[in-house]
Amino acid sequence: MNAFVFEPHLPRVVFGEGSLSRLAEEIERLGATRALVLATPGQADSARRVAELLGGRSAGIFARAAMHVPLELAREARAEARRLGADCAVAIGGGSTTGLGKAIALDSGLPIVAIPTTYAGSEMTPIYGLTDGGVKKTGRDPRVLPKTVLYDPQLTLGLPVGVSVASGINAIAHAAEALYAQDGNPIVALMAEEGIRALAVALPALHAEPHGLRARGEALYGAWLCGAVLGHVSMGLHHKLCHTLGGSFDLPHAQVHTVVLPHALAYNAGHARDAMARIARALGAADAPLALQELARRLGAPGSLREIGMPADGLDRAAELAAGAPYPNPRPLERTALRALLQRAYEGAAPAA
Ligand code: NAD
Repeated sequence: MNAFVFEPHLPRVVFGEGSLSRLAEEIERLGATRALVLATPGQADSARRVAELLGGRSAGIFARAAMHVPLELAREARAEARRLGADCAVAIGGGSTTGLGKAIALDSGLPIVAIPTTYAGSEMTPIYGLTDGGVKKTGRDPRVLPKTVLYDPQLTLGLPVGVSVASGINAIAHAAEALYAQDGNPIVALMAEEGIRALAVALPALHAEPHGLRARGEALYGAWLCGAVLGHVSMGLHHKLCHTLGGSFDLPHAQVHTVVLPHALAYNAGHARDAMARIARALGAADAPLALQELARRLGAPGSLREIGMPADGLDRAAELAAGAPYPNPRPLERTALRALLQRAYEGAAPAA
């Protein structure tokens, strides 16, 4: 057994069908009385439902969350929280909405209650991101970790199947990289493997029956575990590539993860054999990168960067950026090999080392 340090930092979790009905009591438990409800414009109805549930404990609604938390938007949301005298924020939605809650908490220390409706996992991490002038900066701060997370599978029934699949594979990516993280530990590895297993079972089931609560619950359970490991270890090549591709070429977050993951894992496979064996075991397959690509294809997810809007003439720059910044990864970052990886991802070819 390798030496390790493990310092758990996780929010309180209330999990189960109908757990949204416990929101008011969870707000009370935090000693808060005026909650600002956050959502994207597309989930404004959910925000209104939450505000109704809170009754007198709702301070108001800010339903303008947007992908990658533009700094100007974060400033407006912070000002709105101050204007309304909010003493906590409730973020209902995916990573974009949770991210806006984190931006408020970073500035004010307000406690956040997160109600995730995708599988991105941001609600479990002390990682925040803010985008200024097209450049996204991320950081870690314990203040942004939500205090309480309500996981209610009923709230994910409306998540379109295609988005669910991409979001689920985005979650698997956190767990896959956690299994070879240099700062990993045995508890993180257990959670990661179980998270992948749960999602590998849940995604085909919800693809077959999108309104099946059982599959939706299993997917949310997997997303919880995968998000929890993301908050405890450093991510490697895969997350760096996705960050670069998403940020520099404005590609959709979860879909980039879906396309790149098999290729990034194949790149690292020879340098992370134990992790690959665990990922493959969780997927019930022999070869982890191939099995992930096959799972995504079977579930109708995009198979190439070309399909999701990557310009061919951006591949050189993406390889340059990915090879440039130093970050932990099992295999050294070789520009030529990274360029070849990106070419395969662009074309939707089979993953190769
Ligand atoms: P998202 O939050 O942007 O949601 C995608 C779209 O789906 C939005 O329009 C949203 O309104 C809609 N939606 C969400 N839930 C729905 C539901 N149940 N039914 C119908 N529509 C629904 O996307 P995401 O993939 O959840 O999050 C991506 C963002 O989160 C990125 O900015 C990413 O960088 C960030 N992220 C951060 C962390 C972290 O630890 N800080 C972790 C993962 C992701």
